[in-house]
Amino acid sequence: METFEKEMNGMKEYYGSGETKKVSWRESQLKGLCRFLIEKEEDILKALMLDLGKHHVEAFRDEMGTLMKSLNFALSNLKYWISGKKAKLPQIALLSSAEIVPEPLGLVLIISSWNFPFGLSLEPLIGAVAAGNTVVLKPSELSPACSSILALGLPNFLDNKAIKVVQGGPHESQHLLQHKWDKIFFTGSARVGKIVMSAAAKHLTPVTLELGGKCPAVVDSLSSSWDLEVTVKRILVGKYGACGGQACIAIDYVLVENQYYPKLVELMKLWIKKMFGENPKDSKTIARIVNKQHLSRLKNLLADPEIKKSVVYGGSMDERNLFIEPTILLNPPLESAIMTEEIFGPLLPIITVDKIEDSIKFISSRPKPLALYVFSKDKTLQNRMISETSSGSLTFNDAILQYAADSLPFGGVGESGFGMYHGKFSFDTFSSHKAVVRRSFLTDFWYRYPPWTLNKFQL
Ligand code: NAD
Repeated sequence: METFEKEMNGMKEYYGSGETKKVSWRESQLKGLCRFLIEKEEDILKALMLDLGKHHVEAFRDEMGTLMKSLNFALSNLKYWISGKKAKLPQIALLSSAEIVPEPLGLVLIISSWNFPFGLSLEPLIGAVAAGNTVVLKPSELSPACSSILALGLPNFLDNKAIKVVQGGPHESQHLLQHKWDKIFFTGSARVGKIVMSAAAKHLTPVTLELGGKCPAVVDSLSSSWDLEVTVKRILVGKYGACGGQACIAIDYVLVENQYYPKLVELMKLWIKKMFGENPKDSKTIARIVNKQHLSRLKNLLADPEIKKSVVYGGSMDERNLFIEPTILLNPPLESAIMTEEIFGPLLPIITVDKIEDSIKFISSRPKPLALYVFSKDKTLQNRMISETSSGSLTFNDAILQYAADSLPFGGVGESGFGMYHGKFSFDTFSSHKAVVRRSFLTDFWYRYPPWTLNKFQL
């Protein structure tokens, strides 16, 4: 505790020296992160396989590749982001000018999750160093091989006086939360999000909470068989292909009209086999469940006889190898845990509705999701989805894609969290935007000063 206190003080002093505010410092840290990803590529891919059974291609797509893109974007925009932006003033401020100047917040804490151990740690770190902060990063204890690469590898590429990685679980996390930070950026569950927020409240520390929830996919009556086939492939990748369904923006359940579900399920079965093989247990293209506790949680979701009855595909598991087969359920009871809790695994309930428009009411009657996916070419339905539902993001005719866009804010609403990052939004999340006004002495008006005598109002 004492040692850490000393380290924090050292970081604060270092921040006070102004070093981290220099453009050259920020650039060198971003370049250091690029070098870390390139030089440690093999170790990173191995660790992702060890902790999560993530295939190298999936790991590169979702973590290394996405991070390299974000780093290049930050490096090419850094000078523009840092520069002050001119602002207009009212006429009363004649002969004045104004600008908005971003400044770093100071010492920030990033607590991250295990399902994208590099992406969820380094994506916020990019924003934090681009904005000129000193940072303590605490990755998740549930992906230990990845966390250890971050803890042991990063110091060789970054400025250790300004950026530190602390390994550990809830205990270490709680310990960190007792300190006064200038910002806390948290990725994880709503349960722990509440703990983070109440700890932050004691010091009036601003927080960003990147939480989870149940992300629905709505499938409309897609006219052509090509459209339907593309829809099915994108749904399967947006579920089983996103860390085996253990992703905050993975599809949690599907809503479809009664009349279309047989065709949808038939195609899903076909494409599961094409993507993951006749015996998916032997396939290396689907990630494993992170640990025994999460496997038991998912097993319990399936254990209820009512839920078992609703399984129309899959359902088998190999507990020793932390494997659960891609599973489809048809109309499990809406009040069951599988339909009220975030699934976070390869179980996909399909819920049928009479008319596709009923899905709007269904979604709106539940907590606001982090992501909503709608597969439809109907502009009226698309517009109703935009205006009548609320979610962190809304993607038509694809899934997960929004995560990779530097131009879009990534974050939740309601119970899926608040605050946003990615691209310039990450820089803003870790900056304060200072209003700077430069007034001239040349003009001055006598009536703006007291005393408020009558002649001042009888102009
Ligand atoms: P979690 O809340 O259990 O853990 C997140 C982090 O908090 C970890 O670093 C962990 O060590 C720490 N932690 C755990 N218990 C704590 C406690 N009592 N006090 C202080 N810190 C504690 O979540 P998780 O299992 O890592 O992730 C799963 C959840 O995170 C899901 O709900 C998922 O949707 C969400 N998630 C959200 C995003 C996003 O970008 N919005 C991304 C990934 C995961």
